[in-house]
Amino acid sequence: MPDDITGIRRELHRRPEIGLDLPHTQGLVRDFLTGLGLDPVVGRDCSSVTTVIRGEAGPAGSGPRRTVLLRADMDALPIRETADVDYRSRIRDAMHACGHDLHTAALLGAARTLVQSRDTLPGDVVLMFQPGEEGFDGARIMLNEGVLGASGARPDAAWALHVVSNLVPPGVFAGRPGALMAASALITVTVRGTGGHAATPHLTRDPVLAAAEMVTGLYAMTFRSLSPFTPVVLSVGHFEAGTRANVIPGAATFAATLRCFDTASMKAARDLVARFCVGTAHAHNVEVDIRVEPKYPVTVNDPGRAADAAAVAARTAGPDRWRDLPDPLATSEDFAHVLNQVPGAMVLLGAAPAGGEWSGAPVNHAPDVVFDDAVLPDAAGMLVALARHTLAGPDQDPRSIMNVPLCADE
Ligand SMILES: [Zn+2]
Ligand SMILES: [Zn+2]
Repeated sequence: MPDDITGIRRELHRRPEIGLDLPHTQGLVRDFLTGLGLDPVVGRDCSSVTTVIRGEAGPAGSGPRRTVLLRADMDALPIRETADVDYRSRIRDAMHACGHDLHTAALLGAARTLVQSRDTLPGDVVLMFQPGEEGFDGARIMLNEGVLGASGARPDAAWALHVVSNLVPPGVFAGRPGALMAASALITVTVRGTGGHAATPHLTRDPVLAAAEMVTGLYAMTFRSLSPFTPVVLSVGHFEAGTRANVIPGAATFAATLRCFDTASMKAARDLVARFCVGTAHAHNVEVDIRVEPKYPVTVNDPGRAADAAAVAARTAGPDRWRDLPDPLATSEDFAHVLNQVPGAMVLLGAAPAGGEWSGAPVNHAPDVVFDDAVLPDAAGMLVALARHTLAGPDQDPRSIMNVPLCADE
């Protein structure tokens, strides 16, 4: 096993694993933490790893001893990598296209720095390594496994980093108070009619036309029925019907994701989808079945913690290395479940290859996206700084927070 965090990142990138069962990744994380003298606990219901770093300094200020939670997601995506890098994925149709390999390596680097400096650490750090962020709700499974009680006290704050390829320049941290990412729901619509010969469509009840009208109509209706001041993003990513050009099939189905930034918009959008699909099916004399599966809630950064993140980034990396994001992103995150229970924030970090045109770089989830692991020391350093900032508590003298160099680990 490599012992530098760049080597670990590249090893994870070569061996991506998808979903809730990540045996290779889990083993690597567990072994690294064990090598630091920690006592990692593996998940019961998924490939999670949780461990606690016990600080050896007394509580800072007059308050009680504090706990902070740092989270990294570890899973990859079912994408065939086309990026031209020498640590390219060796697993067919699996790729770390969202940068979770960097998150895992950065948190391991932070763990090493925190362990090495635990004599000055005034509290406990819970490390949460989770599988299944990409649609499998691994964070919720870890909450059910009890990650928030791992240190014996509920965390005072929770932090996570996410790399982005083209939102901010490489090496720049970014965030915002309030909604950072959208709530999402998966919608599956199945239309059933009566199939027949393509030459006699009047003798069939054509589900393809009805489903096609539902797709185009829903795109139009989201603009005409929902307020433009509360954005809703509906995208149909899957449409399937029939097998032959000259046969009208008996059924058609499509699947879409729905993303919103508040609960009322989500409800209004779901009602619209149901009403429009039922009405369209009625007009076409076909039957329709609509399934709505809520996925992740809105990722909400606590305003105070978001301000802390900006201050910590400016102090440790420099004021030119922080950006306030004007708008939330329409992606979604299961770290939202953690932030629903513990005040905290997710911080973004630009990781496009240095020297390139970052704003035009392939996006997260693209088969040719490349994240530059030159950002890893800064990512690890930021996690360490956020942890120390939390443990120092509200009575802290800003000068007393150890000014962690953002290249602490390499
Ligand atoms: Zn992703
Ligand atoms: Zn991600």
